[in-house]
Amino acid sequence: MTRISRPVRVRYAPSPTGFLHVGGARTALYDYLLAQKTGGAFILRIEDTDQKRYNPEAIPDLLAGLRYLGLHWDEGPEMGGDYGPYYQTERLGIYQKYIKVLLDQGHAYRCFCTPERLAQVNEERQKARLLPGYDRFCRNLDPSESDRRAEAGESFVVRLKVPLTGSITLHDAIRGDITIENETIQDTVLIKSDGIPTYHFAVVVDDHLMEITHVLRGEEWISSFPIHLHLYNFFGWEPPVFAHLPLILNPAGKGKMSKREERAPDGKVYPVFVHTFKERGYLPEALVNYLALVGWSYDDKTEIMSREELIERFSLERVNPSPAAWNYDKLDHFNGIYIRNLPIEDLTDRLLPFLAAAGINADRETLLKITPLIQERLTVLSDAPPWVDFFFVGELPSYDLNLLVPKKMTLADVPDILQVARRVLANSDFTHEALDAYLREAANSQGLKPGEMFQPIRVAVCGKMVAPPLFETLEILGREKVLQRIDRALERLQ
Ligand code: GLU
Repeated sequence: MTRISRPVRVRYAPSPTGFLHVGGARTALYDYLLAQKTGGAFILRIEDTDQKRYNPEAIPDLLAGLRYLGLHWDEGPEMGGDYGPYYQTERLGIYQKYIKVLLDQGHAYRCFCTPERLAQVNEERQKARLLPGYDRFCRNLDPSESDRRAEAGESFVVRLKVPLTGSITLHDAIRGDITIENETIQDTVLIKSDGIPTYHFAVVVDDHLMEITHVLRGEEWISSFPIHLHLYNFFGWEPPVFAHLPLILNPAGKGKMSKREERAPDGKVYPVFVHTFKERGYLPEALVNYLALVGWSYDDKTEIMSREELIERFSLERVNPSPAAWNYDKLDHFNGIYIRNLPIEDLTDRLLPFLAAAGINADRETLLKITPLIQERLTVLSDAPPWVDFFFVGELPSYDLNLLVPKKMTLADVPDILQVARRVLANSDFTHEALDAYLREAANSQGLKPGEMFQPIRVAVCGKMVAPPLFETLEILGREKVLQRIDRALERLQ
């Protein structure tokens, strides 16, 4: 394992089959960190050769998700670059040129077997208790016969001619050497019958032509490395450094993290897509910091790190090969820390769209005063609406009058308390300091505990028991609105 000092060229190469998952986002993040650290290039390549699994919503979601996380790519869609096109379906001519090289050199061969024949072969293998696979029926076809049949228009795929003996070894930057016996490897399809390459062929040609120096990808791709390395060897190309990143497990640590967002047995829907984390109000800074630590660590203790620190400190040597379990509580904890560290103006601006989405018509000026009152209380930005909604309505929606009643009292006790409070609220300076002092004094003179006076006031003006600190809330609401709401409560109590 060598330390990287020269600028890398790394790529994130998603297939546009679904939304940006945190697993993919982590790969992209590690690519980005490595590129930034070494002054290299982070390339985004869309591996869209599997038309059957193509999902038109995927690419916009991928681009938006990467942008949300601030993982800006140097080359790729919407950016261009010297190594394009960056969509594989726009590179089909390139693959045709390179497959011809392999066919001419005898490292690949046309296979004319029909789907029916392949199904039959598999059936027989099953009976013989063998794994499904191809029996290499066309491997030794005479090249001139192969050419003749192709020219006659017979349908074919192109397969890799995997050596029948020996083994192949991958030097993985995270896992060390991994050796596979060639006899266990299939003569994998490189070009499908419609002339479109498979992932295995396109990925190798593109990584080579795009001068990729380091391939970071999920552990689930380890089984593909023998095919890829054989291709590098047959072409006589130097392979990139491979680093297979650890699996991300579900929070229980049993099994892979879900690929989908489904309702869990506890009734909650746990996010796995970047856009859902965004909608819930996770800050990109917090998500990036958390994601970096899913499989990598700087030391045994440092957890909260800025983007700049992550860039400076990231290294493949400290990526852990063992699977890492996702931890929603830890992410929540990180998010709370990042929210508390935001300047008020910044947090206010980030809250506005969440309030709008909740149907709250908040003005920035008022919200700027409220934000410091709730900053400590937020885990995610979408927690904010119930803390602030009552500031931005004329009249409160109706609430349960029993909430006005302090412990060990009855509804009949409330009007007197509110009347006393009303006199103070009508006459005191309307600053939180003055309100605090005078309302306490009023409670005292009535022989009430402070809370016995504050609860009816809070419920009358906020419509709920849980709300931001009372005196600051009163000050922001202003005398007029506060008195109106006290009066309204008194009316309802009659
Ligand atoms: N297109 C593959 C995917 O969707 C990329 C695998 C690789 O990085 O080689 O995961």
